[in-house]
Amino acid sequence: MTHVAESSENSPLERFVRSIPKTETHLHIEGSLPYEMLHELDPGKFPENPEFRQPGYKFPNFVEFEDLLIAHAMAWYTSAERYFEASSAIFRKLADQNVKYVETSVHLAITDFIDANGRDIVQAVKSAAPEGMDVRVIGALTRDGYTDTMKVTIDSLHTWDELDGIDMHGREWLELEDWAEPIWTRFRDQGKIIKVHAGEFGGPEKIYEALNQLGAQRVQHGVRATEDPELVKRMASEGVILDTCPISNEKLQVFPSMKDHSIRQLFDAGVICTINTDDPLCFANTICDEYLALASELDFTKSELGELAKNGFMYARMDENQKTAFIEEIDTLVGQS
Ligand SMILES: [Zn+2]
Repeated sequence: MTHVAESSENSPLERFVRSIPKTETHLHIEGSLPYEMLHELDPGKFPENPEFRQPGYKFPNFVEFEDLLIAHAMAWYTSAERYFEASSAIFRKLADQNVKYVETSVHLAITDFIDANGRDIVQAVKSAAPEGMDVRVIGALTRDGYTDTMKVTIDSLHTWDELDGIDMHGREWLELEDWAEPIWTRFRDQGKIIKVHAGEFGGPEKIYEALNQLGAQRVQHGVRATEDPELVKRMASEGVILDTCPISNEKLQVFPSMKDHSIRQLFDAGVICTINTDDPLCFANTICDEYLALASELDFTKSELGELAKNGFMYARMDENQKTAFIEEIDTLVGQS
């Protein structure tokens, strides 16, 4: 696949993609650590341009990806201050690409391993938001995350006013345990953002589980929904939002290649999709790369890319006037192109 820096620099399409206001609503803060910060921290352990960040690299499976992600993230994220430092750099990179609204998750179980308070971490990420960017922070748990040491924290999460939502991530194939449903219901009752990772390494049944049991409004990935046409119809009619990450799916071999990615089918079927980067630390992708890949590999037109960018704002938890202004700006830029 084509990366911005290599071949399409300054092309009219790249300029268009860069110019439109954008959102990021599927972004793991631990998986977004700029690699150069790790390299600077320990050049011996984290050499420049490691193999996994090469354009053609594919991860053999989710577990190897997860191990690599944890090994790299844990080397940096040792305190709330480190979260602030990394978040500042991450948001700066996004602001440079005209990203105006971000929903990013914090892996809450990290507090089991480092000497930091979860609420301090959430505050640190939020306080790193630059002027002109709205940042919402989502608490992320794993399906087997209700451990003896995490129970008390998880049961009190609904009292964390600074948390904007909840997400289930990690090994999708694990069974959904009984503790999860009441936690997600509480967040839903509070009007917070309800997310679940599903339909990436699990099939449509995991998406049904996310919708029916956890009441997910935003499914993270959800791209394997196309294996069940009834599910696609339901998602389109109910307005379920898929926060998709095409390059992540390509690099983790959810699809054999970008040309085989289901986002074209989902988009054409009227399912609301947004475009995101997931874990740029591992995939070496940018938000602009994602839009450009859809244009080059799946024939998304500028107008269609504009639709995807508008979806990001349409369902964002931000000021309505600002939202309208960004949507109108995208329409104008599409019209001029
Ligand atoms: Zn994810």
